[in-house]
Amino acid sequence: MRILADYHMHTPRCKHAVGPLEGYIEKGIALGLREVGFADHNPLPDGVGANVRMDEAELDDYVADVLRLRERYRGAIEVRLGLEMDYVEGMEPYLAEQRRRYPWDYVLGSVHYLDTAGRQISWPRNFAGDIHTLYARYYELVRQMAATGLYDIVAHVDLPKRTGRPAAEPEREMVTQTLAVIARSGMSVEINTSGYRHPELAYPEAYPSVPILREILALGIPLTVNSDAHAPDHVGTQFPAIEALLKDLGCRSLARYAGGHRESYED
Ligand SMILES: [Zn+2]
Ligand SMILES: [Zn+2]
Repeated sequence: MRILADYHMHTPRCKHAVGPLEGYIEKGIALGLREVGFADHNPLPDGVGANVRMDEAELDDYVADVLRLRERYRGAIEVRLGLEMDYVEGMEPYLAEQRRRYPWDYVLGSVHYLDTAGRQISWPRNFAGDIHTLYARYYELVRQMAATGLYDIVAHVDLPKRTGRPAAEPEREMVTQTLAVIARSGMSVEINTSGYRHPELAYPEAYPSVPILREILALGIPLTVNSDAHAPDHVGTQFPAIEALLKDLGCRSLARYAGGHRESYED
């Protein structure tokens, strides 16, 4: 099936993405996509993660920019307004207000922080603890995130493989438990092709890996396919390879979002 939307594009406001917003949209048009959506890193309170996300004072302008571009490109491509809203334990009221205050088409949920103090999940070169404990905490937080009801799409669900260590047998059990919670939540999961750009991975592939993807499909959890673009050139990364994979796996529909509502589309 053809992938018609890329819902995970960043902007320079997060301080680690480059290129004008128009560049991302025009790459989407050149690839023949019908929809592209921005989902930049959300602001968090008390300066948590401020070096990799927009400031609170920028959120209004981010939303206004995307809505303006939606009008400007109307007829050429649908521009969606999304947010990559980090789930941080203890910040639920703050996040609920962020979700409520703007007309998001969808909100992507990701887990990058281990605790309320904003301690970042770090990779083995500087991770002091035990890798199994890291996996356990990560999936505990993903389940909590799903339970908040604040999110539409689970971002890069097997992110801890960025340690260079894909989930082995004990961690696969955690993944299975977590997918059951996601299935009940009504959220979709993204196939995030940024893995092809991450040299830390044991081998180049998307998030999640194929065995996890099979489980997702068996549970009937809807899927989106996103590039996690941090530059215009990243839009649509490896989409033809994912189209071939989805065909192999017998997946014939994907999710699309508008105004916080999910629909499915197929070829
Ligand atoms: Zn980023
Ligand atoms: Zn992202």
